[in-house]
Amino acid sequence: MKTSALARFLHYVTIDTRSDERSATVPTTPGQLVLLRQLVAELRGLGLEDAVLDEFGYVMATIPATASLAHLPAIGFIAHVDTSPEMPGDGVRPIVHERYDGRDLVLPDDPAVVLRASENPALAQQIGHDIVTASGLTLLGADDKAGVAEIVAAAEYLMAHPEIPHGPVRLAFTPDEEIGRGADHFDVARFGAVCAYTLDGGGRGELEIESFSADAVTVTFRGFNTHPGYAKGRMVNAIRLAADFIARLPREDTSPETTEGYQGYLHPYQVEASVDRTSVKVLVRDFVTGALKEKEAIVERLAREVVAAHPGASVDIVVDESYRNMREVLERHPRVVDAARAAIRRAGMEPIERPIRGGTDGSRLSFMGLPTPNLFAGEHNFHSRLEWVSAQDMDKAVEVIVHLCTVWTESLITDH
Ligand SMILES: [Zn+2]
Repeated sequence: MKTSALARFLHYVTIDTRSDERSATVPTTPGQLVLLRQLVAELRGLGLEDAVLDEFGYVMATIPATASLAHLPAIGFIAHVDTSPEMPGDGVRPIVHERYDGRDLVLPDDPAVVLRASENPALAQQIGHDIVTASGLTLLGADDKAGVAEIVAAAEYLMAHPEIPHGPVRLAFTPDEEIGRGADHFDVARFGAVCAYTLDGGGRGELEIESFSADAVTVTFRGFNTHPGYAKGRMVNAIRLAADFIARLPREDTSPETTEGYQGYLHPYQVEASVDRTSVKVLVRDFVTGALKEKEAIVERLAREVVAAHPGASVDIVVDESYRNMREVLERHPRVVDAARAAIRRAGMEPIERPIRGGTDGSRLSFMGLPTPNLFAGEHNFHSRLEWVSAQDMDKAVEVIVHLCTVWTESLITDH
């Protein structure tokens, strides 16, 4: 199946849509609105007449049901338009390396940036495919413009093939996912679907139904500052307290640099320091939500031990919930996951299921009442100048979307 996904993708990546954590506007950057407005025009051009951009920067649209199936509940597909602010993302120059033969792909704008099959096992499996990379200076933006292009291409395909029966299919394009705000203003009721699928995953066949559960803990030490020349017996240095605390945090099997698979971790990632007051931010991650509490208890115990050893010091600990493992919701909706597995098989692949060592918009949407697993979009080397995607994988993702509509229609017709 050849689709318009590649052509659309090559255009979308040229628009700078980096989100910005420091911005207070919604969405956080005007570049995202440029792409979002364009998507509304494209969807209307395809015949999705209700396509609209709302005040928060969310595009929603409906692929209308085919004849006599308008009574079926809607399912949805979602992708995010922003790219990571941690990497250069303006002036992206996509390059299509046609019929890949295993050679090293030297990215011309910085010849030191080389994509090698020997270092990328997934690339070694792409012989004969058309590989898209950036030119060496920027990320590519396959995360998640591959997903955006696939959803629009699937809409085009379904509109052109009214003989494929399906109920209403809702589409959403969201801003600010990369900075964790992608679900903040998502109107689940207005979206009106029984479930959705984000297209924001890796290689062909991947299906993600488990994410981390995540909290952020801020540990603030308060000391006592005074002129260092006359500080004997009086100064309590909060920086030394924080350093002592960080040194006590367990490292083996409990840090990002020593864990993988289903292991969780504690990760000090930001320090704001002064003698009087030093705060340490610690990410807490685990696949079992209950285990977050145990890890947070370790943080609290170590912080209190440090303070107990320094008279005059005090500590304040604040825990903020970030997101929860989507599996807790998806377990209650097995047909959402089963339909994804069936659609992947119909497209000729065996589903590859791996836990996400992070979160997606789906992690939060699932808990907001919209069960949302994550499907592959063909993305590789996320947030890197070596990011790449294959045109054939994008077509496969479009195929999976089309099959998902059919699988759901068959199972819903049985119910109604
Ligand atoms: Zn993404």
